Amino acid sequence: MTATSDETYKVYAIKYGHHDRLSSANFIGGDSHDTSMPLAYFVWAVVGPSRTFIVDTGFDAETGAGRGRSITKPVEEGLAKIGIDVATVEDVIVTHMHYDHAGNRNLFPKARYHVQDREMAFCTGRCMCHGTLNHSFDVEDVASMVRRVFDRRVQFHDGDSSITSGLSVHRVGGHTDGLQVVRVRTAQGWLVLASDASHLYANMEQKRPFPVVYNVGDMLEGYQRLYSLADDPAWVIPGHDPDVLKRFPAASRELDGWVVRLDGVQR
Ligand SMILES: [Zn+2]
Ligand SMILES: [Zn+2]
Repeated sequence: MTATSDETYKVYAIKYGHHDRLSSANFIGGDSHDTSMPLAYFVWAVVGPSRTFIVDTGFDAETGAGRGRSITKPVEEGLAKIGIDVATVEDVIVTHMHYDHAGNRNLFPKARYHVQDREMAFCTGRCMCHGTLNHSFDVEDVASMVRRVFDRRVQFHDGDSSITSGLSVHRVGGHTDGLQVVRVRTAQGWLVLASDASHLYANMEQKRPFPVVYNVGDMLEGYQRLYSLADDPAWVIPGHDPDVLKRFPAASRELDGWVVRLDGVQR
């Protein structure tokens, strides 16, 4: 399936944070090599001729400090470098409600937020009574999303849902009950922002799940789903792999190691 004359998008990955860790922390059952395997933290931007969508909102320095994660560049700085003013953003897609994807609560004052029904039910329901499951959520992020519901600033999606021509969301679950991935039409074909459906290339390539998980079966099924939604396995973009910054070209020379363009030719 190749791109048609229908609307296509530019897609950017913008790194904002970093966490050093050993590989044993990235797989259920650990890792026999136990080498350094850090996580990068990203937000993504999907830029079309008429509309721009931000995928996830990251966390701020205060939240990062509380969890031992460092900010490399604030989210708003990275977005500004590619010409996006957070004050004017109209659409934010939240892949799931974890603190590293749904923070920076006041950064997008004009935006409508796209969330799955199941994620909202999950992060406000009985599962949050369990420390193991609520650990990766920040109650203030969740409370802010509840307020947005009442302010009519949330557009809910149920499963597979088209947002506009060439852009859709798909509930994969697994990592959280309502995790959604984003499918985007680019000039090269269909690209998939996997977010935490696969933290690292190794998780989905080797079918070895990341240990923060709600339903292992759904997570394993999700790896197949990711590949089936993309036109090429290389166009499935994991949520936290620093290698994304090496596999794709910088959006400009000064943004090397910070912002990469995902819809062009790989380097
Ligand atoms: Zn997550
Ligand atoms: Zn994450």
